[in-house]
Amino acid sequence: MAILHVRRLKKYFPVLGGVFLRRTGWVHAVDDVSFSVEKGKTFGLVGESGCGKTTLGRCIMGLYDLTQGSVTVQGQSISRLTAFQKKKLATHLQMIFQDPYESLNPRQTVQQILEEKYKIHGHHSTDLSREIRQLLSRVGLSADSLSRYPHEFSGGQRQRIGIARAVSMHPEIIICDEPVSALDVSVQSKILNLLLELQQTLGLTYVFVSHDLSVVRHVSDRIGVMYLGKIVEMGDAQDIYAHARHPYTRALLSAVPVPDPDAQRQRVILTGEVPSVENPPSGCRFHTRCPHAAPICRREPPPLIHRRHDPRHVAACHFF
Ligand code: SF4
Repeated sequence: MAILHVRRLKKYFPVLGGVFLRRTGWVHAVDDVSFSVEKGKTFGLVGESGCGKTTLGRCIMGLYDLTQGSVTVQGQSISRLTAFQKKKLATHLQMIFQDPYESLNPRQTVQQILEEKYKIHGHHSTDLSREIRQLLSRVGLSADSLSRYPHEFSGGQRQRIGIARAVSMHPEIIICDEPVSALDVSVQSKILNLLLELQQTLGLTYVFVSHDLSVVRHVSDRIGVMYLGKIVEMGDAQDIYAHARHPYTRALLSAVPVPDPDAQRQRVILTGEVPSVENPPSGCRFHTRCPHAAPICRREPPPLIHRRHDPRHVAACHFF
Protein backbone atom coordinates (compact mmCIF):
# COMPACT_ATOMS: atom_id res chain seq x y z
CA MET A 1 0.00 0.00 0.00
CA ALA A 2 1.37 3.43 -0.95
CA ILE A 3 2.06 5.75 1.98
CA LEU A 4 3.33 8.69 -0.12
CA HIS A 5 1.87 10.01 -3.35
CA VAL A 6 3.43 12.80 -5.41
CA ARG A 7 1.08 13.94 -8.17
CA ARG A 8 2.05 16.18 -11.09
CA LEU A 9 4.27 18.24 -8.82
CA LYS A 10 5.76 21.47 -10.16
CA LYS A 11 8.06 23.81 -8.30
CA TYR A 12 9.19 26.96 -10.10
CA PHE A 13 11.34 29.66 -8.54
CA PRO A 14 11.13 33.25 -9.85
CA VAL A 15 14.26 34.77 -11.41
CA LEU A 16 14.56 38.44 -10.43
CA GLY A 17 16.54 40.98 -12.42
CA GLY A 18 16.97 44.67 -13.20
CA VAL A 19 17.12 47.65 -10.83
CA PHE A 20 13.64 46.97 -9.46
CA LEU A 21 14.24 43.23 -9.12
CA ARG A 22 11.30 42.40 -11.37
CA ARG A 23 10.61 38.81 -12.29
CA THR A 24 12.39 38.03 -15.56
CA GLY A 25 11.72 34.30 -15.75
CA TRP A 26 11.26 31.07 -13.86
CA VAL A 27 13.61 28.31 -12.80
CA HIS A 28 11.75 25.07 -13.55
CA ALA A 29 13.31 23.14 -10.68
CA VAL A 30 10.69 20.34 -10.64
CA ASP A 31 8.37 19.99 -13.62
CA ASP A 32 5.39 17.65 -13.56
CA VAL A 33 6.72 14.79 -11.45
CA SER A 34 4.54 11.92 -10.19
CA PHE A 35 5.37 8.79 -8.20
CA SER A 36 4.21 6.77 -5.20
CA VAL A 37 6.13 4.99 -2.46
CA GLU A 38 4.87 1.88 -0.69
CA LYS A 39 5.11 1.52 3.06
CA GLY A 40 8.42 0.08 4.22
CA LYS A 41 10.04 0.52 0.80
CA THR A 42 12.72 2.83 -0.58
CA PHE A 43 12.25 5.07 -3.60
CA GLY A 44 15.60 6.26 -4.99
CA LEU A 45 15.81 9.59 -6.80
CA VAL A 46 18.95 9.90 -8.88
CA GLY A 47 20.37 12.49 -11.24
CA GLU A 48 23.17 15.00 -11.71
CA SER A 49 23.56 17.99 -9.45
CA GLY A 50 20.89 20.62 -10.27
CA CYS A 51 18.36 18.14 -11.71
CA GLY A 52 15.78 19.05 -9.03
CA LYS A 53 15.97 15.97 -6.81
CA THR A 54 16.80 17.89 -3.61
CA THR A 55 14.07 20.48 -4.34
CA LEU A 56 11.63 17.60 -4.81
CA GLY A 57 12.66 16.15 -1.43
CA ARG A 58 12.10 19.53 0.21
CA CYS A 59 8.68 19.88 -1.44
CA ILE A 60 7.70 16.52 0.07
CA MET A 61 8.87 17.77 3.48
CA GLY A 62 6.61 20.83 3.08
CA LEU A 63 9.63 23.18 3.19
CA TYR A 64 8.56 24.79 -0.11
CA ASP A 65 5.09 25.82 -1.28
CA LEU A 66 4.16 23.89 -4.41
CA THR A 67 3.67 25.76 -7.69
CA GLN A 68 1.27 23.03 -8.80
CA GLY A 69 0.37 19.44 -7.99
CA SER A 70 0.08 17.66 -4.68
CA VAL A 71 1.94 15.63 -2.08
CA THR A 72 -0.17 13.21 -0.05
CA VAL A 73 1.24 11.58 3.07
CA GLN A 74 -0.85 8.86 4.74
CA GLY A 75 -3.90 10.13 2.85
CA GLN A 76 -3.42 13.79 3.87
CA SER A 77 -2.54 16.43 1.28
CA ILE A 78 0.23 18.49 2.89
CA SER A 79 -0.70 21.73 1.10
CA ARG A 80 -4.17 21.71 2.67
CA LEU A 81 -2.99 21.29 6.27
CA THR A 82 -3.20 23.99 8.94
CA ALA A 83 0.01 25.01 10.72
CA PHE A 84 -0.94 22.79 13.69
CA GLN A 85 -1.64 19.78 11.44
CA LYS A 86 1.67 20.37 9.61
CA LYS A 87 3.55 20.31 12.90
CA LYS A 88 1.82 17.06 13.83
CA LEU A 89 2.60 15.54 10.44
CA ALA A 90 6.23 16.67 10.73
CA THR A 91 6.84 13.97 13.33
CA HIS A 92 5.88 11.34 10.72
CA LEU A 93 8.08 12.92 8.07
CA GLN A 94 11.76 13.49 8.88
CA MET A 95 14.88 14.37 6.91
CA ILE A 96 18.52 13.28 7.01
CA PHE A 97 20.84 15.89 5.49
CA GLN A 98 23.91 15.61 3.30
CA ASP A 99 26.23 17.50 5.61
CA PRO A 100 25.59 16.38 9.20
CA TYR A 101 28.01 19.00 10.55
CA GLU A 102 26.01 21.88 9.07
CA SER A 103 22.72 20.46 10.32
CA LEU A 104 23.91 20.04 13.93
CA ASN A 105 24.26 23.03 16.27
CA PRO A 106 28.00 23.19 17.13
CA ARG A 107 27.22 24.82 20.50
CA GLN A 108 25.03 21.98 21.71
CA THR A 109 26.06 18.62 23.10
CA VAL A 110 24.51 15.50 21.59
CA GLN A 111 22.19 15.27 24.60
CA GLN A 112 20.95 18.85 24.04
CA ILE A 113 20.54 18.27 20.29
CA LEU A 114 18.36 15.22 20.85
CA GLU A 115 16.43 16.69 23.80
CA GLU A 116 15.62 19.78 21.73
CA LYS A 117 14.02 17.60 19.08
CA TYR A 118 11.71 16.03 21.66
CA LYS A 119 10.80 19.46 23.07
CA ILE A 120 10.05 21.05 19.67
CA HIS A 121 7.60 18.32 18.82
CA GLY A 122 6.03 18.26 22.31
CA HIS A 123 7.07 14.69 23.10
CA HIS A 124 7.10 14.03 26.80
CA SER A 125 8.76 10.97 28.19
CA THR A 126 8.94 9.96 31.83
CA ASP A 127 12.50 8.77 31.28
CA LEU A 128 13.94 10.88 28.45
CA SER A 129 17.58 10.11 29.33
CA ARG A 130 16.97 6.37 29.05
CA GLU A 131 15.14 6.84 25.74
CA ILE A 132 18.02 8.92 24.33
CA ARG A 133 20.62 6.36 25.45
CA GLN A 134 18.63 3.59 23.73
CA LEU A 135 18.42 5.75 20.62
CA LEU A 136 22.20 6.24 20.56
CA SER A 137 22.87 2.55 20.97
CA ARG A 138 20.42 1.83 18.11
CA VAL A 139 22.55 3.98 15.76
CA GLY A 140 25.85 2.53 17.02
CA LEU A 141 27.03 5.28 19.39
CA SER A 142 27.95 4.82 23.05
CA ALA A 143 26.29 6.67 25.94
CA ASP A 144 29.46 8.72 26.60
CA SER A 145 28.74 10.56 23.32
CA LEU A 146 25.96 12.46 25.10
CA SER A 147 28.26 15.04 26.69
CA ARG A 148 30.33 15.65 23.54
CA TYR A 149 29.97 18.32 20.84
CA PRO A 150 29.57 17.66 17.07
CA HIS A 151 33.16 18.70 16.23
CA GLU A 152 34.48 15.90 18.47
CA PHE A 153 33.05 13.23 16.13
CA SER A 154 34.10 11.86 12.74
CA GLY A 155 31.89 12.47 9.67
CA GLY A 156 30.31 9.01 9.93
CA GLN A 157 29.57 9.45 13.66
CA ARG A 158 28.00 12.86 13.00
CA GLN A 159 25.76 11.28 10.39
CA ARG A 160 24.76 8.68 13.01
CA ILE A 161 23.71 11.58 15.29
CA GLY A 162 21.67 13.03 12.40
CA ILE A 163 20.02 9.65 11.89
CA ALA A 164 19.30 9.34 15.64
CA ARG A 165 17.66 12.76 15.56
CA ALA A 166 15.51 11.76 12.57
CA VAL A 167 14.32 8.43 14.03
CA SER A 168 13.76 9.89 17.53
CA MET A 169 10.27 11.05 16.47
CA HIS A 170 9.25 7.53 15.34
CA PRO A 171 8.63 8.77 11.77
CA GLU A 172 6.92 6.79 9.01
CA ILE A 173 8.88 8.40 6.16
CA ILE A 174 12.45 9.72 6.04
CA ILE A 175 13.81 11.83 3.18
CA CYS A 176 17.51 10.95 2.94
CA ASP A 177 19.15 13.81 1.04
CA GLU A 178 22.56 12.58 -0.19
CA PRO A 179 23.19 11.06 3.27
CA VAL A 180 26.54 9.43 2.38
CA SER A 181 27.98 11.60 -0.37
CA ALA A 182 30.10 13.67 2.07
CA LEU A 183 31.59 10.52 3.67
CA ASP A 184 34.59 8.31 2.89
CA VAL A 185 33.75 5.22 0.81
CA SER A 186 34.64 2.92 3.73
CA VAL A 187 32.16 4.72 5.99
CA GLN A 188 29.43 4.98 3.34
CA SER A 189 28.63 1.27 3.42
CA LYS A 190 28.35 1.28 7.23
CA ILE A 191 25.84 4.16 7.15
CA LEU A 192 23.88 2.51 4.32
CA ASN A 193 23.73 -0.74 6.29
CA LEU A 194 22.54 1.16 9.36
CA LEU A 195 19.76 2.79 7.31
CA LEU A 196 18.71 -0.62 5.94
CA GLU A 197 18.76 -2.18 9.42
CA LEU A 198 16.61 0.65 10.85
CA GLN A 199 14.21 0.28 7.94
CA GLN A 200 13.73 -3.39 8.74
CA THR A 201 13.35 -3.02 12.50
CA LEU A 202 11.25 0.17 12.49
CA GLY A 203 9.32 -0.35 9.22
CA LEU A 204 10.56 2.96 7.79
CA THR A 205 9.82 4.25 4.30
CA TYR A 206 12.64 6.14 2.57
CA VAL A 207 12.93 8.58 -0.29
CA PHE A 208 16.65 8.32 -1.00
CA VAL A 209 18.14 11.21 -2.98
CA SER A 210 21.59 10.78 -4.53
CA HIS A 211 23.69 11.61 -7.59
CA ASP A 212 25.30 8.16 -7.34
CA LEU A 213 23.36 5.39 -9.10
CA SER A 214 25.45 2.63 -7.50
CA VAL A 215 24.48 3.87 -4.01
CA VAL A 216 20.81 4.33 -4.97
CA ARG A 217 20.65 0.87 -6.49
CA HIS A 218 22.10 -0.68 -3.33
CA VAL A 219 19.29 0.63 -1.11
CA SER A 220 16.26 1.17 -3.40
CA ASP A 221 13.25 -0.93 -4.32
CA ARG A 222 12.26 1.52 -7.05
CA ILE A 223 14.27 4.20 -8.80
CA GLY A 224 13.30 7.44 -10.52
CA VAL A 225 15.96 9.01 -12.76
CA MET A 226 15.69 12.81 -12.99
CA TYR A 227 17.00 15.13 -15.66
CA LEU A 228 16.38 18.90 -15.69
CA GLY A 229 13.39 18.75 -13.35
CA LYS A 230 11.67 15.74 -14.95
CA ILE A 231 11.61 12.00 -14.29
CA VAL A 232 12.92 10.42 -17.49
CA GLU A 233 12.84 6.80 -16.36
CA MET A 234 11.29 4.96 -13.43
CA GLY A 235 11.07 1.29 -12.50
CA ASP A 236 12.06 -1.45 -10.05
CA ALA A 237 15.72 -1.10 -9.10
CA GLN A 238 16.88 -4.42 -10.54
CA ASP A 239 14.94 -3.81 -13.74
CA ILE A 240 16.43 -0.34 -14.24
CA TYR A 241 19.89 -1.79 -13.72
CA ALA A 242 19.36 -4.74 -16.09
CA HIS A 243 17.14 -3.12 -18.74
CA ALA A 244 17.67 0.65 -18.67
CA ARG A 245 15.92 2.18 -21.67
CA HIS A 246 16.59 5.90 -21.54
CA PRO A 247 19.95 7.06 -22.98
CA TYR A 248 20.53 9.24 -19.90
CA THR A 249 20.06 6.30 -17.50
CA ARG A 250 22.37 4.21 -19.69
CA ALA A 251 25.02 6.91 -19.51
CA LEU A 252 24.73 7.07 -15.71
CA LEU A 253 24.90 3.28 -15.48
CA SER A 254 27.95 3.09 -17.72
CA ALA A 255 29.84 5.14 -15.12
CA VAL A 256 29.02 2.72 -12.27
CA PRO A 257 32.08 0.57 -11.47
CA VAL A 258 31.56 -3.20 -11.81
CA PRO A 259 33.56 -5.63 -9.65
CA ASP A 260 34.29 -8.09 -12.48
CA PRO A 261 36.90 -6.57 -14.88
CA ASP A 262 35.73 -8.92 -17.68
CA ALA A 263 32.24 -7.52 -17.38
CA GLN A 264 33.22 -3.87 -17.96
CA ARG A 265 30.47 -1.83 -19.57
CA GLN A 266 31.20 0.44 -22.47
CA ARG A 267 31.41 3.92 -20.99
CA VAL A 268 28.99 6.46 -22.50
CA ILE A 269 30.50 9.93 -22.26
CA LEU A 270 27.91 12.68 -22.39
CA THR A 271 29.09 15.74 -24.24
CA GLY A 272 27.87 19.32 -23.80
CA GLU A 273 26.93 21.34 -20.76
CA VAL A 274 23.84 20.63 -18.68
CA PRO A 275 21.31 23.18 -20.06
CA SER A 276 19.85 25.88 -17.82
CA VAL A 277 16.65 25.03 -15.93
CA GLU A 278 15.65 28.66 -16.45
CA ASN A 279 15.37 28.04 -20.18
CA PRO A 280 15.13 24.27 -20.71
CA PRO A 281 15.52 22.89 -24.26
CA SER A 282 12.40 22.37 -26.36
CA GLY A 283 11.07 18.87 -27.04
CA CYS A 284 13.07 16.27 -25.15
CA ARG A 285 15.15 18.15 -22.57
CA PHE A 286 17.99 15.69 -23.06
CA HIS A 287 18.31 16.27 -26.82
CA THR A 288 21.28 18.67 -26.52
CA ARG A 289 23.40 15.86 -25.04
CA CYS A 290 21.79 12.70 -26.36
CA PRO A 291 23.86 10.56 -28.77
CA HIS A 292 20.60 9.33 -30.42
CA ALA A 293 18.83 12.68 -30.88
CA ALA A 294 16.72 13.03 -34.04
CA PRO A 295 14.67 15.98 -35.40
CA ILE A 296 11.50 14.83 -33.58
CA CYS A 297 13.39 15.04 -30.27
CA ARG A 298 13.86 18.81 -30.72
CA ARG A 299 10.16 19.33 -31.47
CA GLU A 300 8.12 17.01 -29.28
CA PRO A 301 8.54 16.22 -25.59
CA PRO A 302 8.39 12.41 -25.20
CA PRO A 303 5.78 11.14 -22.71
CA LEU A 304 6.60 8.54 -20.05
CA ILE A 305 5.65 5.24 -21.71
CA HIS A 306 5.76 1.85 -20.04
CA ARG A 307 7.60 -1.19 -21.34
CA ARG A 308 5.55 -3.81 -23.10
CA HIS A 309 4.31 -6.33 -20.49
CA ASP A 310 5.73 -4.17 -17.70
CA PRO A 311 3.58 -1.23 -16.56
CA ARG A 312 5.95 -0.59 -13.64
CA HIS A 313 8.86 0.43 -15.88
CA VAL A 314 8.40 3.73 -17.73
CA ALA A 315 10.77 5.87 -19.80
CA ALA A 316 10.42 9.16 -21.69
CA CYS A 317 12.12 8.63 -25.03
CA HIS A 318 10.77 8.54 -28.60
CA PHE A 319 12.94 5.58 -29.60
CA PHE A 320 13.78 3.29 -26.69
FE1 SF4 B 1 17.49 11.04 -26.94
FE2 SF4 B 1 15.43 11.68 -28.50
FE3 SF4 B 1 15.17 9.78 -26.68
FE4 SF4 B 1 15.38 12.32 -25.94
S1 SF4 B 1 13.71 11.41 -27.11
S2 SF4 B 1 16.40 10.61 -25.03
S3 SF4 B 1 16.82 13.09 -27.45
S4 SF4 B 1 16.54 9.74 -28.45
